[in-house]
Amino acid sequence: MVTIPLSQTQPPTVPMGGSGAPPVLDVRGLTKRFPVGGMFNSKQVHALEDVSFTVDRGETMALVGESGSGKSTAARVIARLIAPSAGEIRLDGVDVLKSERQPSLAYRRRVQMIFQDPFGSLNPVHTIGHHLARPLEIHKKARGRREVRERVAELLTTVGLTPPDEVAAKYPHQLSGGQRQRVAIARALAVDPDVLLADEPISMLDVSIRMGVLNLMDRLKEERGIASLYITHDIASARYIGDRTTVMYAGRMVEGAPSTTLLDEPAHPYTRLLVSAVPNPRAGLAKRAIQVRGEVPSLLDPPPGCPFAPRCPHAMPICREMMPGIEMVGPRHWVRCHLYGPGGTTIGSPAGPATAGLATAGPAA
Ligand code: SF4
Repeated sequence: MVTIPLSQTQPPTVPMGGSGAPPVLDVRGLTKRFPVGGMFNSKQVHALEDVSFTVDRGETMALVGESGSGKSTAARVIARLIAPSAGEIRLDGVDVLKSERQPSLAYRRRVQMIFQDPFGSLNPVHTIGHHLARPLEIHKKARGRREVRERVAELLTTVGLTPPDEVAAKYPHQLSGGQRQRVAIARALAVDPDVLLADEPISMLDVSIRMGVLNLMDRLKEERGIASLYITHDIASARYIGDRTTVMYAGRMVEGAPSTTLLDEPAHPYTRLLVSAVPNPRAGLAKRAIQVRGEVPSLLDPPPGCPFAPRCPHAMPICREMMPGIEMVGPRHWVRCHLYGPGGTTIGSPAGPATAGLATAGPAA
């Protein structure tokens, strides 16, 4: 194992990207703290701490974590809906926070976001055709009524909403949740983006239509070479669509690897907890989900060491005092945990069964 100092966690020191080509999106040391309590209170919510990753063209990077892990804040900061407290966002190598104080129209075009709630992201008083025509007109992707109409029909066909003329005349409430999310994807595609930020795009959809939306996103990534950041709390869907997966906990990245590696050989105790909770019909009743005790740390007053220490059954005294550095535990597989010590030493029993040292809970009878 190789020890990577904390100050060098971003690429190229850690080879997180896959193709070797310069990444489209390169995020370095991204930090977001929200002040609370007014002028006379210096307290801050540490929503995002030192987050660094890259996404290549035609690649999907999944960002996984529970509520409050900072994954959606990361997407909003990258979309420049909120300003970061520190860090860099590089688009094709250009540090956009330095080159433009306010996000330009070009940045808005190149980085598109798909939101969790497909109904909330569409204006109920406008037709689907209007929702798709507006970005085409604003970003000058089509001129004249005829060309706009043709492009709208093309977009609807691309996302599988046919007959396009009929769909374009409808209002959002006349479509199902899955159809509305397809419209949201079509709207994002209308401006030929380089980066797609999909924030829990399937979590509000019926299970029966989730797979269709995931397959659509995967196909578009392949066809258009878009760099995608897929944000989810569902590690199983991350494996399905993500070329790589990064796990976040309490505002920090704790583990990252190619998605199959991460699911098959999770190293961080928190990742093992997430993986153990994935339903596996073949394992049946023999499969037991890991159950941890303890509280999620307050983001208002985060503990000095590892944020997972209050819940981790492997916690050692050093875990409560010092933030672990990044260790490489396999090809393109890194982890931030004191179980993987400097100089290649292994402390504790990280390679043991996922349930080693952890309380288990069987499925409800
Ligand atoms: Fe558990 Fe310590 Fe690793 Fe944190 S650093 S996950 S507390 S063993």
